[in-house]
Amino acid sequence: MSNAYDVIVIGSGAGGGTLARQLAPSGKRILLLERGDWLPREPANWQAQAVFVEGRYITPDTWHHSDGEPFQPQVHYYVGGATKLYGAALYRLRREDFGELRHHDGLSPAWPIAYEEMEPHYTSAERLYQVHGARGEDPTEPAASAPYPFPAVSHEPRIQQLSDDLEKAGLHPFHAPCGIMLDEDNMPYSRCVRCDNCDGFPCVVHAKSDAEVIGVRPALEHDNVTLLTGAEAVLLQTNDAGTAVTGVEVRRPSGELERFTADIVVVSCGAANSAKLLLASATDAHPRGLANGSDQVGRNYMFHNSQAVLALSKEVNPTIFQKTLGVNDFYLSGGDDFDHPLGNIQMVGKSQAPMFRGEKPGETRFAPSWTLEEVARHAVDFWLSTEDLPLPENRVTLADDGNVQLSYASSNNEAKDRLFDKLKGMLADLGMHHGHLLPHHAYLKNEIPIAGCAHQAGTCRFGTDPASSVLNTECRAHELDNLYVVDASFFPSIGAVNPALTVMANAIRVGDHLLERLGVRGQAEAAHA
Ligand SMILES: Cc1cc2nc3c(=O)[nH]c(=O)nc-3n(C[C@H](O)[C@H](O)[C@H](O)COP(=O)(O)OP(=O)(O)OC[C@H]3O[C@@H](n4cnc5c(N)ncnc54)[C@H](O)[C@@H]3O)c2cc1C
Ligand code: SF4
Repeated sequence: MSNAYDVIVIGSGAGGGTLARQLAPSGKRILLLERGDWLPREPANWQAQAVFVEGRYITPDTWHHSDGEPFQPQVHYYVGGATKLYGAALYRLRREDFGELRHHDGLSPAWPIAYEEMEPHYTSAERLYQVHGARGEDPTEPAASAPYPFPAVSHEPRIQQLSDDLEKAGLHPFHAPCGIMLDEDNMPYSRCVRCDNCDGFPCVVHAKSDAEVIGVRPALEHDNVTLLTGAEAVLLQTNDAGTAVTGVEVRRPSGELERFTADIVVVSCGAANSAKLLLASATDAHPRGLANGSDQVGRNYMFHNSQAVLALSKEVNPTIFQKTLGVNDFYLSGGDDFDHPLGNIQMVGKSQAPMFRGEKPGETRFAPSWTLEEVARHAVDFWLSTEDLPLPENRVTLADDGNVQLSYASSNNEAKDRLFDKLKGMLADLGMHHGHLLPHHAYLKNEIPIAGCAHQAGTCRFGTDPASSVLNTECRAHELDNLYVVDASFFPSIGAVNPALTVMANAIRVGDHLLERLGVRGQAEAAHA
């Protein structure tokens, strides 16, 4: 087998998996390199103990804090990347997120393209990832050129009650956009069975619109696409002038190194690992790391200033699939006394007793006589996301062992606290025990905050100025003619809604550009149609 391809895509997650599918009908020889394996389909996929407590699908990889202290990042190296475990809440960024936004702690910079340029690709991504939603409910929703391709996932009774109570309180709750293959009108034939193990779990019946199911598998139906699992890209080689990538060095599970070549190389390893690969590929022409003349590679790491919190409903909360509701009333402003963005409120997967600690934590004092089973039966689980700013000192560098070293300090903590207070102040009106709004990790056995790396973004931001950005507006490295990055690295700011749909939409956008560049766009479009 020849090791020469037209396009190499490194990483098969939201960015790489979507791009592979977009390029597949072109007939061009495409190699998809994935350091992980297929995620095994097994009963443990849906077991809270295995997934949440034992961390069965978390990589044993070791990263380092800025002081060198090692930690196990909550990342997932599988075909499909982080989307194998994601909650599939597939939001568009708001139109305002593409412009400059003034936050409490500083400016969230404008993107080099307007929302209108991304819009058609959002529509394509929503179609591809089978997003279920309802337009017109969310006051911050940007204009869309098409309705959601599937109707919104219905609220179960306790969440419908919550929605009604939020409305009574003057807010505008909406049906959250969900990438699950649920057909509520025809449940006997629905691929999704609406189970209680979705957000944070792999889907054993492949009904979650993840990048393996939607991106990689359909791409592999084309003979011209090859997937290599257990293939970790460790080095990008360049020509002497440093103007083009000439080879990708790949470590196989045996430790053996293999070299592959392609006319175009696309990096999509997730924000931290893409930065690591570029930094590790320094040459004489790129002494600070590949494509890093601007010294921006690895910088501006963001992952949302998030809070997973648990409230206790006075009534039992028997909800199975809880992630159906969102509230964006505080997305752009906290009101008269705080005219800065606070962020997004949404539901997370329903917490379950096996996820909780064995002993009763002191924080249950608001319901002192309750067992943890009772707490789980009454729990209503929220996810609050506040935008963290792209700060140059929040960055990925290489640790002494060559792995990721992460320096990060949070921003917009005032906005984060106010968002928390907004929700807390409403609890009595929402049928919840007054005052009881506690961090999820106060209850969970697994103390590592899942937010840590889940929404990572921003290490290779795109822009028009090579002095302050790594990629141009087509996500090609300013300094190399054939190197692209299509994972969440390209974000110049992260907004406060979940990032995956934007990664997917952008991969489709960049895919169109690459098809054009390869002279096969018409051919691919005809095959897609
Ligand atoms: C538990 C959880 C819940 C989430 N919920 C949501 C949600 O509800 N909505 C939402 O929008 N987002 C959610 N996210 C975030 C979302 O999954 C990510 O934003 C998205 O997957 C990022 O896409 P990516 O292409 O940047 O990276 P990934 O999808 O992580 O893909 C990177 C891929 O590159 C591979 N790789 C890494 N290094 C190398 C290398 N050197 N060589 C070869 N391959 C490599 C990895 O194995 C991986 O497959 C969630 C994430 C997690 C973990
Ligand atoms: S809710 Fe549907 S998509 Fe999610 S894990 Fe269950 S069956 Fe799969």
